[in-house]
Amino acid sequence: MSSTDHSAALDDAPSLAARRLTDLADRVARSGSADAGGDPAAKVDAIDVSAPATAERIGSVPACDASDVDAAVERAREAQAEWAATPARERAAVLDRFGDLVLDRRAELLDRFGDLVLDRRAELLDLLQLETGKSRRTAVEELFDVPMGCGYLAETAPGVLADEGRAGVAPGMTTATVTYDPVGVVGVISPWNYPLTLSMADALPALVAGNAVVLKPDEKTPYGALALGELLEVAGLPDDLFQVVTGDGPTVGPALIDAVDYVAFTGSTETGRIVAERAGRNLIDCSLELGGNNPLIVLDDTDVDEAARGAVQACFSNAGQLCLSAERIYVVESAYDEFVDAFVRETERLTLGTGYDYDAEVGSLIDAAQLDRVQNHVDDARERGATVLTGGRARPNVAPYCYEPTILTDVEPDATVACEETFGPVVSVAPVPDADAAVAAANDSPYGLNASVWTRDRDRGAEIARDIDCGTVNVNDAFLATWGAVDAPMGGFGDSGMGRRHGPEGIRRYVESRTIGVSRVGPLTFPDRIPIGWFVRGAFAALSLGRRASRGVRRLKERIRLR
Ligand code: NAD
Repeated sequence: MSSTDHSAALDDAPSLAARRLTDLADRVARSGSADAGGDPAAKVDAIDVSAPATAERIGSVPACDASDVDAAVERAREAQAEWAATPARERAAVLDRFGDLVLDRRAELLDRFGDLVLDRRAELLDLLQLETGKSRRTAVEELFDVPMGCGYLAETAPGVLADEGRAGVAPGMTTATVTYDPVGVVGVISPWNYPLTLSMADALPALVAGNAVVLKPDEKTPYGALALGELLEVAGLPDDLFQVVTGDGPTVGPALIDAVDYVAFTGSTETGRIVAERAGRNLIDCSLELGGNNPLIVLDDTDVDEAARGAVQACFSNAGQLCLSAERIYVVESAYDEFVDAFVRETERLTLGTGYDYDAEVGSLIDAAQLDRVQNHVDDARERGATVLTGGRARPNVAPYCYEPTILTDVEPDATVACEETFGPVVSVAPVPDADAAVAAANDSPYGLNASVWTRDRDRGAEIARDIDCGTVNVNDAFLATWGAVDAPMGGFGDSGMGRRHGPEGIRRYVESRTIGVSRVGPLTFPDRIPIGWFVRGAFAALSLGRRASRGVRRLKERIRLR
């Protein structure tokens, strides 16, 4: 395996040296998942990793195969038994320390022009930018997100995982207690667009619930995951409990699904279907966080300038490579012209760039294939009569895969950009007669991930939100009002996925519940001392009485609530 290739791309990343990437890649081999002997050089197959900002090769990681995956899962399974027996409070404390470590580095990173001492600390941000080509402003969001998630889990998980008393068969007769046990080994398959946030949003709740995790990052962005794995160890996670297997999706993914007890997948709807089928065949549970074609609605009473700024964030964060990005905007007619003028103006103010500072707002797309996809979607819309209000072209002078933030109008309903997810900095805007028409247009999609509604009347916005078929709906915000609410579930309707991350739901997906019922009155069967006819009549009378009593209590509570 050759993984040293000191390129110009690396020279630009101030805190990184090629050797560091090699060290990270070697972790896969050292952990035993890429070769039995632990000698990195023994692993012949490797996958090259490139920097989108320059299209240059920056290194390589082992191309794991099915036997590597099996070895990683086996080691994780051995480590998991002891971890499961560790009290939830202690497990949560480890994650809390991990959050602090990420946060410490973030704080130090802000002074990236500092002296050489900062080289090591600046690593996570530089690493993120290096392997994704994203702007530093977007990269830093990932470093806010991971510690926030750690804090939430540390505080909440012990309660969510504690035994729960539930109602028994009838008052006084039996008790019912629910216990929550880890499922075992969780496979996490993550995409390239937010490599830190999205891998940790699924891995950390699995760990705190007492599971081991084997993570397969996207082959384009393996280094961030490997760096976080290192920090988890520093934070005190037991050896082998968190493993990373690198390699090609169609090889490593299926092998992982065959070996684990649960799979948490984030990626495209197309791959999500393959993952769900395989998990179904293995009778293991899965959560699927998939694609979207997200709507943004501007109502007639909106503060247009605020909505325009919000729309810029909604559409062009991470160069539009965000599952929650808005790709369709519906504006009530009376606000249309004013909104479009403000939106174009704000969009044209954006700066493009991939520098290791906070100057640029919009970074690069991930690779040539993504650039082609974006360009094809725009060309197709143009050929069908769409007007390009701004953007609509690649900017190779900024970086090889850069594309201008693009606003389209007059887009035909059958244009690719209207029906499919572009996953780039492209949005179409259309006028609609009223709020009802906006909601109908928003819901006219097989997807249902995220939506955004803009209005001065927040109550009206929240009412309209209830009619939108999406897992998250933000009023007067792009996506952070829901994504940042880590106590609340997040996921998709329809083709956007199954299951939820975040909140208690995001932890409970990783446990098996067990109900323990204890009888205080002996076996719950027909008594032998009473004639059966009497018993049946008495039991029905007790049932009716019980129902009447609980109905009375319900009504009383309702009256108290109404007062
Ligand atoms: P993708 O489906 O191609 O890849 C995602 C992951 O799946 C990668 O790690 C990849 O290696 C792996 N993979 C590929 N083939 C596989 C297979 N046959 N079996 C198992 N795993 C396999 O997705 P992508 O195009 O790289 O990512 C972008 C997509 O992800 C977009 O559609 C975006 O909307 C979606 N996404 C969704 C969310 C969410 O939370 N809902 C978040 C981010 C991205």
